[in-house]
Amino acid sequence: MSDISSIISRIQELPHYFKFKCRACAAEVRVYALQIHANCPQCGLKHRCRAYVEVDEEIQDVIDAVLVWAGKGASFAAFIQRREEILAGEKKEGKGSRAE
Ligand SMILES: [Zn+2]
Repeated sequence: MSDISSIISRIQELPHYFKFKCRACAAEVRVYALQIHANCPQCGLKHRCRAYVEVDEEIQDVIDAVLVWAGKGASFAAFIQRREEILAGEKKEGKGSRAE
């Protein structure tokens, strides 16, 4: 598998949310995979999420680069439109397939 195929697979398999236990009160904290900080819902302790979630830095960097590249205004609207086209294609063709 090429490096880029490996990165794509790792992104496709990435869960949207992770859970971890608060180190102060042991409450379960649920965070979005790319979230950097979260407060414990029970005791309020601020956690650095990337110390807990299992998303390697390479994947975070790729996703962050795409998010920045998406731009704003008309560029971002076109980005979202393309995303919708891809998702519509995946619905018709099955998970993991491409619209093109
Ligand atoms: Zn806590």
